[in-house]
Amino acid sequence: LNRRLAGFGTTIFAEMSALALRTGSINLGQGFPDTDGPEEVREAAVRALRDGRGNQYPPGPGVPELRTAIAAHQQRHYGLSPDPDTEVLVTAGATEAIAASLLALLEPGDEVVALEPYYDSYAACVAMAGATRVPVTLRPREGRFHLDLDELRDAVTDRTRLLLINTPHNPTGTVLTREELAAIAELAVERDLLVVTDEVYEHLVFDDAEHVPLATFPGMRDRTVTISSAGKTFSFTGWKVGWVTGTPELVTAVRSAKQYLTYVSAGPFQYAVAEALALPDAYYTELRADLRAKRDLLATGLTEAGFEVLRPAGTYFITADIRPLGETDGEAFCLALPERAGVVAIPTSVFYDHREAGAPYIRFAFCKQPAVLQEVAKRLKTLA
Ligand code: PMP
Ligand code: GLN
Repeated sequence: LNRRLAGFGTTIFAEMSALALRTGSINLGQGFPDTDGPEEVREAAVRALRDGRGNQYPPGPGVPELRTAIAAHQQRHYGLSPDPDTEVLVTAGATEAIAASLLALLEPGDEVVALEPYYDSYAACVAMAGATRVPVTLRPREGRFHLDLDELRDAVTDRTRLLLINTPHNPTGTVLTREELAAIAELAVERDLLVVTDEVYEHLVFDDAEHVPLATFPGMRDRTVTISSAGKTFSFTGWKVGWVTGTPELVTAVRSAKQYLTYVSAGPFQYAVAEALALPDAYYTELRADLRAKRDLLATGLTEAGFEVLRPAGTYFITADIRPLGETDGEAFCLALPERAGVVAIPTSVFYDHREAGAPYIRFAFCKQPAVLQEVAKRLKTLA
């Protein structure tokens, strides 16, 4: 392994899923739903396979049907109007979109400001690009992780090339507010920075929270690469269909990198996702209502088990503080949890450069059937 990737051995998700298997524990570590997405969308994939659509290399930027559907989705939900021919790129999941964006836009030695804790691939991709990450730590206050705007400003230097933003935010479940996003946008314009924004959880927001794409703020359209994925919105994490939208110049740059990573993404699933994006509003409303009920179920279980819960406004992750249980080290706690209670969670500290800032927090995925969450609640009660 070269020096750039030293320290990025096995992802925490693979490690903790293996631990769940080995110990027969319930896996609330890696985030994936235990119910697949809509039947009619699966049928659409079968039809595409059977009818020979996408069984050979699809076009590099993605099949036209999907690019058109992505553009229409941006229009319908946010009033944005990317040109499907020049401003949309289909990728192998959001993971490839992140990698291709960072590889395409960064020079060795550039600095990337990102919100800590961060999704694990950010650090690895910044490293592969030869750039340096500069974390800005989200801090819990009154039950929510907040972005300190002064800290964000102070993190930007003359070497900063881009801001890497994620909202709704994994692992904290925070949805950045309009005010926070406006401040990020102002800073980007003032310091002439590019912004890569990972919005894969765009439809997973609850209660009064609202997802506002960064690209909708003044001055942002021309400097923002927006990333999303069908994995989260339609519960098909195994399909690996993601996308990038942005100006023709930015999308062309990202496509240059994508060409040499995967060349193209799997064909038949692209046709199916095009149909999924056209599902009526009721689909999105039900998705949110379903996940919100699951969030509340797990939050109640965790509270009863003695954790302090930071109830998320978005995503399908919940953060629990282990200190009320007399514990302080989330990593040790998560390693012992399968033995103690038959449950797997992720220590949030692995998503930090300042590990101590995340030490008392652990992350549970709640995109699981109610009976599973109830069983988890029952098992965790034995900890008290
Ligand atoms: N970004 C974030 C914040 C995520 O949580 C995930 C899902 N693990 C991804 C990107 C990757 O998405 P995909 O599965 O589409 O590659
Ligand atoms: N996005 C999911 C999570 O955060 C899983 C990602 C993965 O396995 N690489 O848990």
